[in-house]
Amino acid sequence: MLSQRLTRVALVTGAAQGIGKAIALRLASDGLKIALNDIQSKGDQLEFIAEEIKKSYGSEVCVFPGDVSEERDVENMVETVSKSLGSLDVMVANAGISGSLTSILETSKYLSKEQWDDVLRVNSKGVFLCYKYAAKQMVAQGRSGGRIIGASSVAGKQGMTHTSAYTASKFAVRGITQVAALEFGQYGITVNAYAPGAIESSMCAFGPSFTPRDIPDVHETAQAANLSASPVGKAFSNSLPSFSTLGKTGDIAGLVSYLASQESGYITGQTISINGGMYFD
Ligand code: NAD
Repeated sequence: MLSQRLTRVALVTGAAQGIGKAIALRLASDGLKIALNDIQSKGDQLEFIAEEIKKSYGSEVCVFPGDVSEERDVENMVETVSKSLGSLDVMVANAGISGSLTSILETSKYLSKEQWDDVLRVNSKGVFLCYKYAAKQMVAQGRSGGRIIGASSVAGKQGMTHTSAYTASKFAVRGITQVAALEFGQYGITVNAYAPGAIESSMCAFGPSFTPRDIPDVHETAQAANLSASPVGKAFSNSLPSFSTLGKTGDIAGLVSYLASQESGYITGQTISINGGMYFD
């Protein structure tokens, strides 16, 4: 088992905002060293979060902007992080995009072939690459106790209207997670994913990465960033039971904190629903 004396190192992708940021802060408060990743254009946001982590928790932090769907970026990122912080013990492959929301019949009009591929490239291939290079590093370190965690979704459990690319990409994360769990178990590495329902973040509020502007009847509500005011948003929030509300990014961070801990060693290959009762496995 990993020595208690070692300070473990976690790399969180898509950490400039939302769920990824909350996970990074939570793992720092758990005492891990933190590596932050997001796309190049969010480098300043990452530096700001790095400062926040240093000030609040005194943790060692490094920032590595890069695209998780580019193999060279992921390989360099894992190598650099491991050298700078001493190891890689927890990989959180959180980065994701939603693409435009549109029905399958209208994809030619509102979601180009390239955009459809982009969603799969970032959400599925990106997770695959993060799993691959994290596991390579963990195996090379030669010690047990590695934790690999990916972002799926309630849309990875049950198809959601207007989200063909996103749903496909998040089902894929479940599959990759199961395969990786079977293959990496012999090295003492567990692999799991989280499947959030509706969590308050820019993605769920139809912020920039959701690009609902491409759908005429969602157009007006995009500016309002109001989940309950669009057709897709209504369908989404209506599937919450009456006692429930939107989740908080900290809810997901709490689950990831447990999955990243050494206590969670008997859980692997699972995609864990965390959705306020929106969907039951
Ligand atoms: P968000 O849009 O607020 O944050 C996602 C982050 O990923 C952004 O900072 C973005 O810049 C980054 N990113 C996008 N493409 C990237 C790339 N190629 N390389 C590196 N970084 C990249 O979204 P969020 O709500 O915080 O979601 C985080 C994860 O949780 C995503 O995978 C999302 O699909 C999943 N999820 C979110 C919800 C929700 O309700 N918010 C529900 C289910 C699943």
